[in-house]
Amino acid sequence: MSNFWCEVDLNAIEHNLNIIKKLIGDKKLIGVIKGDAYGLGIEEVSNFLQDKVDILAVGNLDESKKISVKSDILILSPLCKIEDFKDERDNLIFSIDNEEIIDNLPKDSKKRVHIYLDTGMNRMGIKLNRIDTVIKNLRDNYPNIKIEGLYTHLHKCKDVKYTVSQVLRFKKAVEKYREEIPLIHCLASSGILDNDIRKAANFTTAARGGNIIYGYAGYNRGIKKTFTYYAVPVNTCKIAKGEQVGYGGLFTAKSDMTIGVLECGNVNGMGITREIKNGVIYDMFRVLYRSIKKRYIIFNNGRPVEILGKPNMNITLIDMTGIDKDAKLKVDLSPIISESTIDKKYIGKEEDILEVKEVTDTISEEETLPIEE
Ligand SMILES: *Cc1c(COP(=O)(O)O)cnc(C)c1O
Repeated sequence: MSNFWCEVDLNAIEHNLNIIKKLIGDKKLIGVIKGDAYGLGIEEVSNFLQDKVDILAVGNLDESKKISVKSDILILSPLCKIEDFKDERDNLIFSIDNEEIIDNLPKDSKKRVHIYLDTGMNRMGIKLNRIDTVIKNLRDNYPNIKIEGLYTHLHKCKDVKYTVSQVLRFKKAVEKYREEIPLIHCLASSGILDNDIRKAANFTTAARGGNIIYGYAGYNRGIKKTFTYYAVPVNTCKIAKGEQVGYGGLFTAKSDMTIGVLECGNVNGMGITREIKNGVIYDMFRVLYRSIKKRYIIFNNGRPVEILGKPNMNITLIDMTGIDKDAKLKVDLSPIISESTIDKKYIGKEEDILEVKEVTDTISEEETLPIEE
């Protein structure tokens, strides 16, 4: 076991799945595992999810090759390419998101597809007024291609009014295919979580979940965070009052104290915030606010631990005062920005003895934000 690892709680994932299933009712659930299953490890997560969701969805063909599941795998738009159609696995479902691709589709081998429709996001997709032509073209010229789904992506769910009208436009365009095309879907996490949007989408027969499965969104609905980072100090040392610590001597000891060394740092996303510039005044206030309200990312039994100086590339120095030298410290990081080779420990599988979870759950500001895809 290394000194820094990420625990992924499969029980929490299952708990989240149950909440999602209650919300979406009899719709099929498409479990999105792109981006290394949102940083949690695509192999283990796909194995765990395969018999709990109806379809798995990846971001591109390469991701689909990393997993060995029997269940259906949808390659999401926008990264489904014509070369992908050479892959002969019969559990693959391709996305058709532009008309040019259609001319080059194979005519000899059986393929399963969903058609991706653009309803306002404007990055990819067949426009709604082209859907009938596209479906007719596929049906007339490609009897080997089975259209199993129609979908779109809701990109602005915070604007509920806009999104509801977006859903209704989608409905108007696809409703006539409901009898022939089994999977019609538009909801992703934010849509699943919003009552009005979900209601507007009551004609759909499937929903796609990513963020909400892994616990990046939906805490007010009882969704649980599914991952926790831990670090055990790799070294401790005593220093005397007045001595300085680390690069640039940024920290000076106010009294004799013990220093702890953690084997994690910038490379793991420590010290990195996903901040964007908002304008001078706003940023000034934010800097001021930050300087008053310190944000901790390391915790010992729920108690914040002081970082001394700044995290380095792969090392972080901490104040070990009052902390046991073998303490298992919790580190508040997001797997999405954390480097993917970090050891992951999956707990909650049958063969594992369940560990007693710590009581305090600190969710950082970053982690409560759904991740944009
Ligand atoms: C990533 C993605 C999703 C999942 O979105 P979440 O907000 O994480 O649930 C759904 N649909 C498409 C097309 C995506 O690219």
